[in-house]
Amino acid sequence: TYQYPEINIIAETTTKMSKNVKEYLNQIDMEKQIRQEFFSNASHELKTPITSVQGYAELLESGIIQEEGQKRDFLNRIKKEAANMNNLINDILMISRLETKDAEVLKTNVRLSIVLDDIIESIKPLAASHEVLIHMDCKPVCIYANTQQMKELFGNLISNAVKYNKPGGEVWVKVREEDRNLIVQVKDNGVGIPKESLSRIFERFYRVDKGRSKKQGGTGLGLSIVKHIVNFYHGTISVRSELDKETEFTVNIPIKGKV
Ligand code: ADP
Repeated sequence: TYQYPEINIIAETTTKMSKNVKEYLNQIDMEKQIRQEFFSNASHELKTPITSVQGYAELLESGIIQEEGQKRDFLNRIKKEAANMNNLINDILMISRLETKDAEVLKTNVRLSIVLDDIIESIKPLAASHEVLIHMDCKPVCIYANTQQMKELFGNLISNAVKYNKPGGEVWVKVREEDRNLIVQVKDNGVGIPKESLSRIFERFYRVDKGRSKKQGGTGLGLSIVKHIVNFYHGTISVRSELDKETEFTVNIPIKGKV
């Protein structure tokens, strides 16, 4: 301490300020690291399909493959890999849009039943190919939000419930309002998620079973996009699961603003 109180105050304030600056710089460092990790993962994820597309194209070009059936098979693989790349790029663009701090989103009064009907209609072919039945129980709820984001959020959860299911499996979607909160539950009786993975599934590029995810055209980004959107609306998301039995996601979003 110094003899003059003014100097003490200045010294204290300076220490506090330098601490704040240090914390701020650490935070920027962290963000930089997260961003770098994301780009390096994304590049790696893109490289894999590009390499196989090149491989198949070269084999076809070389003339080694004579059999028509095999040629068609290779062309289909090229198409599948291109579709995977397309999914990945769309998800990356989605994340980048969500991360733009003051993302300008157009909000309107969104009726949940309409959003869910649209999602289920577009998921029908996926559900049919997996032999999975979807049940809906939607109470009349409206939320002041962006329609596209609502579709992305619940579309991801419902398509996961179909993709990670078993033939003959079922999905139950329940929508209700409770204390001015929108509550959506998506439950399935599919493969389940191991306990040790439950805390990691919202991480970017995390997959429990990479092979299974890729086969379905998964990018490992779906749930991180879901979490992003939920955070955007100051909501919460929780998951409980029992391996080989069931998984249930519960989304809770405050219904604020104009209704
Ligand atoms: P992906 O594109 O791989 O589906 P997500 O981020 O949507 O990526 O999900 C991450 C991982 O969480 C998936 O790869 C899968 O292993 C697991 N998962 C997500 N939803 C379910 C579910 N309903 N049942 C079982 N596993 C799930």
